[in-house]
Amino acid sequence: MDIKRLLEESSKYLMNTYSKYPLILRKGRGTKVYSIDGKEYLDFVGGIAVNILGHCHPRVVVAIQKQAQRLLHVSNLYHIEPQIKLAGLLVENSFADKVFFCNSGAEANEGAFKLARKYAKEHYGEERFEIITALNSFHGRTLATLTATGQEKFHKGFEPLVPGFRHVPFDDLEALQETINDNTCAIMLEPIQGEGGVIVPSPDYLREIRRICDENGILLILDEVQTGMGRTGKLFAYEHFGIEPDIMTLAKGLGGGVPIGSLLAREEVAEAFVPGSHASTFGGNPLTTQAAIATIETLLEDGILLAECERLGKYFVKRLSGLKDTFSSIIVEIRGLGLMIGMQLTRDCAPIVKACMEKGVLVNCTADNTLRFTPPLIVTEKEIDTVTDIVEDILSRLS
Ligand SMILES: *Cc1c(COP(=O)(O)O)cnc(C)c1O
Repeated sequence: MDIKRLLEESSKYLMNTYSKYPLILRKGRGTKVYSIDGKEYLDFVGGIAVNILGHCHPRVVVAIQKQAQRLLHVSNLYHIEPQIKLAGLLVENSFADKVFFCNSGAEANEGAFKLARKYAKEHYGEERFEIITALNSFHGRTLATLTATGQEKFHKGFEPLVPGFRHVPFDDLEALQETINDNTCAIMLEPIQGEGGVIVPSPDYLREIRRICDENGILLILDEVQTGMGRTGKLFAYEHFGIEPDIMTLAKGLGGGVPIGSLLAREEVAEAFVPGSHASTFGGNPLTTQAAIATIETLLEDGILLAECERLGKYFVKRLSGLKDTFSSIIVEIRGLGLMIGMQLTRDCAPIVKACMEKGVLVNCTADNTLRFTPPLIVTEKEIDTVTDIVEDILSRLS
């Protein structure tokens, strides 16, 4: 195993879009991943909120194996059973009446913009196309989704951006009220900002937004690409806030590790799409929908998993908060919901991520100063203890 050569080839052949760690992973089981030189890592990144059931969950693996022998792909010109079944599962377990499948979070959000614009234009006129999103948000890397993303660093170099987007500070109703106008077609938000640093809004924020949307005929789009599929302890994060969106997008955790995204909507809104409005070659294909069925069925059957996510999330926050007293000069705040947890520091968290890796733990740094923990829902209390102890040890050497 020539690690050095592989790393050289990686930078030789791959576009330089990621600042990758010099770590080559080859195998994963449950909460653990293994590098090609056989080192074991406790994975609290989980593919950034993708591996909701851990690595290579047996039910997902078997579903993929079986389907791979039967049928890998057919065009959306034809019906396939797993796509119908998955749509039914999503509809029966959410606010939505209709589902469209695609392949990623950005693509789901693109679909949401198109659906919202078409609905609003048909119901309120041609000028109604503006979409309001939040500062510090993250919605993807395509031109429209990076425009929606309220962070300048993602825009730089790619102008001109897509017209028709406005940004307001997150969790600020006044700013939103001031920005809404007759051309506002939709408001799109993450229920909890993920890439922005795991920012949880005030308890009544989304409820007030729902009210504002209803009063003004504005659609509420929730980007649950990261918060969805049990991540926060409920199947969808909106369930915590006592509201329902008009449109929701999913991806990350949906397929238990395979690339699948989804756009969900109320019936009346979904009706704006007719044959020819929207499409995706791979969207909802046999392989990815089988993986997603196995994932969602496992999440729901084991109602235990969602309950455990909530319990373990609280436990993890409690353990991390215990460190705050000792390291008050380093730790600003611990926040999150379920197993989507951020620990904001007074400093760049990259060195801590590196030190964790050296101790066999993968964590992620977002918004420069926030350690983000998104372990699989099958994580154990003991593993949470291990990670907390390692973080404690690293912080004590820093302070
Ligand atoms: C990751 C993410 C996206 C983008 O998903 P991709 O699959 O990378 O396109 C969009 N929105 C949110 C909230 C995300 O966390």
